[in-house]
Amino acid sequence: MARIGFVGLGNMGGPMAANLVKGGHAVTGFDLSDAALARLEEAGGARAGSAAAAVNDAEVVVTMLPEGRHVEAVYLADGGLADAAPAGTLFIDSSTIEVATARRVIAAMEARGHAMVDAPVSGGTGGATAGTLTFMVGGAEAAFERARPVLELMGRTIVHAGGPGNGQAAKICNNMVLGISMIAVSEAFVLAEKLGLDAQKLFDIASKSSGQCWSLTTYCPVPGPVPTSPANRDYAPGFTAAMMLKDLKLAQDAAGTAGAATPLGAEAAQLYRLFVQSGNASLDFSGIVRMLRGS
Ligand code: NAD
Repeated sequence: MARIGFVGLGNMGGPMAANLVKGGHAVTGFDLSDAALARLEEAGGARAGSAAAAVNDAEVVVTMLPEGRHVEAVYLADGGLADAAPAGTLFIDSSTIEVATARRVIAAMEARGHAMVDAPVSGGTGGATAGTLTFMVGGAEAAFERARPVLELMGRTIVHAGGPGNGQAAKICNNMVLGISMIAVSEAFVLAEKLGLDAQKLFDIASKSSGQCWSLTTYCPVPGPVPTSPANRDYAPGFTAAMMLKDLKLAQDAAGTAGAATPLGAEAAQLYRLFVQSGNASLDFSGIVRMLRGS
């Protein structure tokens, strides 16, 4: 049994921490929300009065926070995690944040004598609850090997993507493909409608042809062809448009810094911004088909 500190017990962190408790570890958590702390206690964990108190005798610390600015503040502010944890503690940040921030925070933590990996996830709240997340991990080999048994209690696929920040790089590259491909598939269904081609016929053909992709065959944006896709429940999420916009902005931020040309990534970010600004932030991201249809 390890002593694990967990900071950020929201929609993802809450069930992830519960899976660490189920795995036999002593989990002490902190969140700004009292309801989140109560859920941790129900799951068998212990509540701490501050982030520092959650980690002051931890061997491993997991964080699952909204954005890079929260990660930077929680880790590096005076009296933050870097100061509070015993030297040599392993930190795993699973939040989705900027590549550059992840690299800055890991370098600062290593300079303070800690080990740290970035380990963002895909799989959503369903995967967090079921313990089937995919972890994309960036960091030193030794830190990855220490993190692996902890990550295995929360996920099914654990991939070491390279050095610090490479987990975040993998996450935003993958989600940039997803955002672009969802728009491409949606445009094709809208065009098919206008041409009098039945949606099911397009699906049957494209899913066996070169248009085949996850956005089509697993997450089809029109109702009918894939009964489990959010299109069949009026676009209840799933993965919200706000989250897709966040990840596309992170990809644009990284592309700008790295000098990579991503014109379709930029266009996808712009279209999701429009969609979110029209009041669709909490709709599933596949609902963008409605905006493209003009309905
Ligand atoms: P959430 O808003 O439900 O949870 C974040 C939690 O962090 C909240 O409970 C909040 O109170 C807490 N928090 C914020 N600042 C804090 C601080 N200073 N100290 C302690 N707690 C603090 O968000 P979520 O859906 O759990 O997402 C977390 C991260 O995971 C995000 O980076 C998100 O992009 C990523 N992610 C989410 C999903 C998803 O489907 N929800 C999927 C993949 C990745």
